[in-house]
Amino acid sequence: MIYRKLGRTGLTVSIVGFGASPLGAEFGKIDPAEGKRAVDYAIDHGINYFDVAPYYGRTLAEERLGAFLQGKRDRVILATKVGRYQYGGVDFDYSRQRVLRSVDESLQRLRTDWIDVIQVHDIEFGDRRQIIEETLPALLDLKKTGKVRFVGITGYPLHQFVDIIQHVPIDTVLTYCRYNLFDTSMDDILTPVAKAAGVGLINASPLHMRVLTEKGAPDWHPAPKRVLETGRRVAAFCRERGVDIADLAMQFALAHEDVATTLVGMSKVRHVQMNIRAIGVKPDPELLAQVREIIAPVANVVWMEGRPENNDPGAVPKRS
Ligand code: NAD
Repeated sequence: MIYRKLGRTGLTVSIVGFGASPLGAEFGKIDPAEGKRAVDYAIDHGINYFDVAPYYGRTLAEERLGAFLQGKRDRVILATKVGRYQYGGVDFDYSRQRVLRSVDESLQRLRTDWIDVIQVHDIEFGDRRQIIEETLPALLDLKKTGKVRFVGITGYPLHQFVDIIQHVPIDTVLTYCRYNLFDTSMDDILTPVAKAAGVGLINASPLHMRVLTEKGAPDWHPAPKRVLETGRRVAAFCRERGVDIADLAMQFALAHEDVATTLVGMSKVRHVQMNIRAIGVKPDPELLAQVREIIAPVANVVWMEGRPENNDPGAVPKRS
């Protein structure tokens, strides 16, 4: 395993991070016993960063991860989120009162006394002013209680992160689907700013939420159809050359040296093994160039997510 510093937090994190949303069946039903084996295998092979959220499986992922981590809590750095729910009659709530309660609920489900990284989930669905003046200050206050150690933000549009980093002393930023074979715009907008500010950079969804796999995207995938079609084409192109597109995608994402940890969603031992095997392997330059050429017409295509005012310029409607 390779480890990196997570910004100026002082935490040392494995460059492959365990994305726990599949444990909440976000990509379809899973076998919980296999999910536990995947978590055990990951820890035994050096993965120390785990990312989850109340939203994943509408609390199921946190419940399961909490159970799987019993007796192993001190071997991992645990990150969860506040603000996005879609249960209990509320979709999003970034108020001080709700996020403080949310942390207590997560602590219970995760069966722990502390959360290493608490993140505001998908800030593009919130009001910018509330996130800056209410949500983040509430979480920063919690640091003093010992319930949380570090505070971060997550989401899809990139410009909003640059803005928040300039206004609030956050520790981490997590973006998804913005640095992988389909989209590298994270580096144009966010990476230099996060680096200069000492904010830990977390890259999620290196498989573009399963587009870059043999199985292909789930039904709910927000990308425009032409992106999904191109995903099927590059998977077939690699298959014909005896390569699994997921391997190439992981090798590509993991080669990024400014990303502290790359979060890949996992619930199967086989996937943990594959993703660890991709560490330090240089993508075949010829194959990579051919795949990037096929993707080029849809590279950096960005979809709308959250409030219109928070979208990145040029974002297109989801599933268009
Ligand atoms: P991903 O690109 O990591 O894809 C995950 C899917 O690919 C799952 O269905 C998984 O079973 C499958 N998979 C994993 N490894 C594979 C392999 N080697 N071969 C074939 N299939 C494989 O997308 P993701 O899960 O959405 O993102 C990773 C994690 O990042 C999430 O689980 C979550 O923890 C985090 N995340 C956070 C946010 C946010 O905070 N807004 C958004 C997206 C993701």
